Parts: sequence; structure tokens; C-alpha cells
Amino acid sequence: MDIDLARAWVKAIAVAVDQHKDHLTQLDSAIGDADHGVNMHRGFSAVTTALEGVEPDTVGAVFIKTGTTLISTIGGASGPLYGGAFRALGKALDTPAAEPLAFAGALAAGLESIQKLGTAVPGDKTMIDAYAPAVAAFEEQIRQGAGFAAAAAAAADAAEEGMRATTPLQARKGRASYLGARSVGHQDPGATSTALIFRALADTAA
Ligand code: ADP
Ligand code: MG
Ligand code: MG
Repeated sequence: MDIDLARAWVKAIAVAVDQHKDHLTQLDSAIGDADHGVNMHRGFSAVTTALEGVEPDTVGAVFIKTGTTLISTIGGASGPLYGGAFRALGKALDTPAAEPLAFAGALAAGLESIQKLGTAVPGDKTMIDAYAPAVAAFEEQIRQGAGFAAAAAAAADAAEEGMRATTPLQARKGRASYLGARSVGHQDPGATSTALIFRALADTAA
């Protein structure tokens, strides 16, 4: 992971969020307050603008800028959660180029940040249900000798599987938890945006 790949990934997330904005909002209208697509779009549009004028000298600086911008522009729960995760990712990558295993560790630091702030565990029907299996798949692939692109592809597949697996779950965190059993049968919006984020990484690294 180098500075160019970091920038390209974040840009690819912004494009994906733009393309899937209505879908994310639709999912959030079923079990939330119908703003997840709008929130993510506002956040990543601001990130695109924020990164335009800067020349970061580390991979970490790209992600810290991304996280800080998300925190200050996304109003909902996903802002501090994603913002904190990107900041944690950035703090772990204070280098112009990181080895794949270091990037795996940084992804894990991002996950830890989300769990520390949101106190969700796997199975609570949140972004964690896509994020946690993606991190595990990425690290496992690297440890088995796969290259970055193959590991990113495995992470994206795992995130999408985790995303789909949120449908039968009952939400135990966030707004969707207010619905109790009525949250069952709907795919979680945040797990869906997390899957977009990992698919964007796979596409960028390919
Ligand atoms: P809000 O619920 O404030 O409107 P968003 O709609 O932008 O925020 O984001 C909702 C998503 O945030 C949910 O689908 C879920 O994946 C995620 N989320 C909410 N609360 C938590 C939490 N405590 N831990 C992890 N993820 C959470
Ligand atoms: Mg919402
Ligand atoms: Mg909201």
C-alpha cells in the first residue's frame, strides 16, 4: 500500500458511494432514518475535495485526512465510526509505503476503533458484520503468501458475504435496534457500505 494506491482507493470509494447512494438510503429507509446514502455521499464528496489540494507524504496522512473529514461532515452514527476507523488506519501507517501485513494490521486497528466506539460485536447487524470477516480474510490470504490484490479480492468477497448474512439478523445496535424483531429480513445499510469500501479496494488493487 503506497500513497498513490491510498488516494486511488479513497477516490474509488467516493465513486462507489455516488453510484450506490440511492440503494444505501433505500436500505436505511427500511430499518433506519433513510439517510445512509446521503450521509456517505456528503462525507466522501467532502473527502474528495479535501484530498485534492494536499500532497500527503505518508499513506497514513491520506487516511487521517479522510477520517477527519468524515467525522466533520457525516452527521449520523456512521460518521464517527468510519471516520475513527480511517483515522486509526492512518495512525498505523506512518510510512510512504506499507507492507501488506502492516496494512492488515492497520485494517484491524480500524476494526478495533469501530468496536471501541460503537461497542458492537459480530452478529449485531452492523458494519462490523462485513468489516470483521474482510479483515480476517485479508490477513489470512497474506499469511498464506497471496499478493495484495488477491487478498483484497478475498476481503471484498468476505465483506459481501457478511453483508448478505445481516439480512436474517435482528439489530442490536444503532437505530435499527429500536425496531426489535421488525429489523429481521432487511440487509444492514452500514454493512452494505462497508462491502462497497472493500470492493473498491479490490478493484483499485487489481
Ligand atoms: P444513523 O443511524 O445515525 O442515521 P447512518 O444511517 O449513516 O447513521 O448509519 C447507519 C449504520 O451505522 C447502520 O446500518 C450500522 O451498520 C451502523 N451502526 C450504527 N450503530 C452502530 C454501532 N454501534 N456499531 C457499529 N455500527 C453501527
Ligand atoms: Mg440513518
Ligand atoms: Mg441519521
